[in-house]
Amino acid sequence: MTERLYIVVPCYNEEEVLPETAARLGAKMRALVEGGRVAPDSRVCFVNDGSKDGTWGIIRRLHEEDPLFSGVNLSRNRGHQNALLAGLMTVKDRCDVTISMDADLQDDIDAVDAMLEKRAEGFDIVYGVRSDRGTDTAFKRSTALAYYRFLAKLGVESVYNHADYRLMSRRALDGLAEFKEVNLFLRGMVPLVGYPSASVEYVRGERFAGESKYPFSKMFAFAIEGVTSLSVKPIRFITNLGVAIFVVAIIAAICFVVQYFIGVTVPGWASMIVSIWALGGLQLLAIGVIGEYIGKIYLETKARPRYLIQDFLDREG
Ligand code: UDP
Ligand code: MG
Repeated sequence: MTERLYIVVPCYNEEEVLPETAARLGAKMRALVEGGRVAPDSRVCFVNDGSKDGTWGIIRRLHEEDPLFSGVNLSRNRGHQNALLAGLMTVKDRCDVTISMDADLQDDIDAVDAMLEKRAEGFDIVYGVRSDRGTDTAFKRSTALAYYRFLAKLGVESVYNHADYRLMSRRALDGLAEFKEVNLFLRGMVPLVGYPSASVEYVRGERFAGESKYPFSKMFAFAIEGVTSLSVKPIRFITNLGVAIFVVAIIAAICFVVQYFIGVTVPGWASMIVSIWALGGLQLLAIGVIGEYIGKIYLETKARPRYLIQDFLDREG
């Protein structure tokens, strides 16, 4: 028996790309159904992440014209990760397998076939991995590489060059549903779910219309999220640094006392100022890191909903 597939696509202000995306994904889905690769009642589900433009109107129209398209409307903008999770959790009990991808089709949709092949071989999670970063700037390429290395050093397991283009079976989604955290970094959480997983390579293209919804500031915040929501090593590092500096200070103090008794007076005004500033800086850094985690704890204890769904359009059969 063929499996029922839901392709989940988070959309934020995507009215420029959505008609084209829907046309391409619709054609893809029909080809998959005709080829007997997926069940005939498979769907493309667009998640409207509180867009300010006509995105939801387009999704509603698509759904009215063709039951192949379904839609989830969030109560407000919650960000890419929350929108994606909202979509996956909403459809998980209606399907056997999901594939998540971005609305701008930067991810090559032909990789879907390879993902489904892996699924047929029995894998629960299939990661879409970019085979090259040719369309990225040198800056983005090198910072991304450094970031993946940094994450690995901190003990965060993530798949190199994998964004949120991935296939997940229902069983894997049920597993993901058990992770109740509010601070989401899905590409670090999914490996924690486990189950047999595989990777599929694809070439990532350019966004074909509209602008990136991830400016540098959001990208940076997301990078910090990845570290602080999955690793406590920065806190330990700060603690160890504090101990080391304290030991150095004690040794220095002993030296100064000895010098005082020998009668060597130290003019060291400069060194004093420097050390005050250095320590002040370190302390601020340490407080910042700790504050970051305390902020996370605060958010987690409040256990606010990660998203609220306003409408769900999906036809049976
Ligand atoms: N997105 C979203 N909510 C947001 C920001 C982005 O749902 O607050 C969606 C967006 O519509 C797209 C995906 O997340 O489908 C990735 O965004 P984008 O392509 O702008 O990021 P980039 O590819 O530039 O990193
Ligand atoms: Mg994009």
